[in-house]
Amino acid sequence: MEIVIVGAGVIGLATAWRTAAGGATVTLVDPEPASGATAVAAGMLTPVSELTYGEEPLLRLGLASRDRYGAFVAELEELTGLDTGHRTDGIIEVAFDADDLRYLDDLRRFQDSLGIPTEALTGRECRRLEPMLAPGVRGGLLAPEDGSIDPRRLAPALLAAAERLGVRVVRRRAAEIVIERDTAVGVRLDDGTEIRADRVLLAAGSWSGDLAGLPPGTVPPVRPVKGQVIRLRARTPFVGRSTRGLVKGSSVYLVPRLDGEIVVGATQEELGFDTRVTAGGLWELLRDARELLPGVTELEFTEVSAGLRPGSPDNAPVMGPSALPGLFVGTGHFRNGILLAPVSADILSAMLLDGPVPEVAGPFTPGRFSPEVHS
Ligand code: FAD
Repeated sequence: MEIVIVGAGVIGLATAWRTAAGGATVTLVDPEPASGATAVAAGMLTPVSELTYGEEPLLRLGLASRDRYGAFVAELEELTGLDTGHRTDGIIEVAFDADDLRYLDDLRRFQDSLGIPTEALTGRECRRLEPMLAPGVRGGLLAPEDGSIDPRRLAPALLAAAERLGVRVVRRRAAEIVIERDTAVGVRLDDGTEIRADRVLLAAGSWSGDLAGLPPGTVPPVRPVKGQVIRLRARTPFVGRSTRGLVKGSSVYLVPRLDGEIVVGATQEELGFDTRVTAGGLWELLRDARELLPGVTELEFTEVSAGLRPGSPDNAPVMGPSALPGLFVGTGHFRNGILLAPVSADILSAMLLDGPVPEVAGPFTPGRFSPEVHS
């Protein structure tokens, strides 16, 4: 079986690795692997803290992925000898004022109703866990099983693992889907070269709809959702685990790495393919971060960046066969693509190799948006 994967973000990379491990010959096409949202993401692995009403199937997918993470990372690190910065020390979510706390209490009750373990914390308990929190923090909750990973370490490890299993990486842009007798048979690159395959997977994040030749009904319904983040550096321990806060209704998080980096994020803006970093975006992030952790202003500033989350109409991933035989889609991972990489790789590689597809994949097929698409 020959497979071409368009896009080497976390989803294309993880799928290339697992598909090659399943015995296929895989070509991965990307002019600059891991240059999209994957390079900007904070890397929280948090199905529980990100839980939103009405997103129970996404929660199940997230939990399935988080549960796979330990084994996924162990195999990856063993194969490549590279560290991914995987942490399993939980995530604390704190409330700045009484309204924020009411929201968090509601969220915890909802999580309880779904049987998800979280621990309610008083303000004092929050500060005992994270002493740098502001004295006014009202309370919060701890999701002890959540964690984080460094996407800038994960992506090179995935690329190395894929290459070790024989995946060919072609550093060019895929310009067009090649179709013969109503079937996708490969892609044409921007230099005119054709790469033939039995199956093509579109995993180009927010750009997944950009290829020429996609027939109506097969264009993945994704839009870019901009997110700005700030990278800081602490010389002494600042926060011990990922810390999210609600500050007067707006949300901010700080994700620490073991090497002292702290990622502060993130804005959520519907501005098309705009990736400019703005003064207002940075100001809002630092303003809210300082309310929660006043010492943040003492940290060394190292970087600002903006990335584009691939969002679908229902903000959930789109994974499976498209209406065009031979063409598969793996995108729409929006705020959770790093978290969802292990389970998505299992789902997409099973689909590409005609293996048994994990049951949690059910609600995420492209067919849910378009009656003419196979599901
Ligand atoms: P991308 O990472 O965007 O990769 C797409 C790839 O396709 C790129 O490498 C690009 O070069 C390539 N490409 C584009 N067009 C073509 C073409 N024509 N031919 C070949 N290649 C092409 N998720 C979490 O789970 N936890 C988090 O804490 C988190 N934080 C985030 C914070 C921010 C600010 C942002 C922006 C995102 C965050 N995410 C997080 C979401 C996560 O980053 C995305 O869901 C994930 O990276 C999507 O991966 P992807 O592989 O689909 O797309």
